[in-house]
Amino acid sequence: MMKSKLLISACLCGKNTKYSGGNNLLPGFAEIEEKFDLYLVCPEVMGGLSTPRDPSENRGDLVFSDKGKDVTKEFYLGAQKALEIALENDIHLALLKESSPSCGSHKIYDGTFSGVKIAGQGVAVKLLQKHNIKIFSEEEIDLLLLEK
Ligand code: SF4
Repeated sequence: MMKSKLLISACLCGKNTKYSGGNNLLPGFAEIEEKFDLYLVCPEVMGGLSTPRDPSENRGDLVFSDKGKDVTKEFYLGAQKALEIALENDIHLALLKESSPSCGSHKIYDGTFSGVKIAGQGVAVKLLQKHNIKIFSEEEIDLLLLEK
């Protein structure tokens, strides 16, 4: 049987693309890999940011690092590249890391670097959703598995 295609945050697959230089390997990654055809993306790295890098948070439609650097351009470029991969490969599902300024789909940090989360979406998620790609976070694996 053909596997469904899934756009997935590279850090959830164990790739060390996090700002800290680490990853967010999913405990259930083996099952995801078995059930879906994976297309790994890290919008922040694809947008030209280095790893490790300063942490960033959203402020409205802009993104700033904790040093006050405006990294909006890099975030939008990376989001665009992730979208292109989805469109070129006819991908309609994505599993993206919650709370990230790029990949968060329900929660993001509030822009004050004080650890406070608010309802909101990251830059890549907003763009992918505009193109009708259905986003799941790692807290919604059960729902994602119903999609295949
Ligand atoms: Fe993971 Fe997304 Fe952050 Fe890249 S941008 S490290 S894929 S959460």
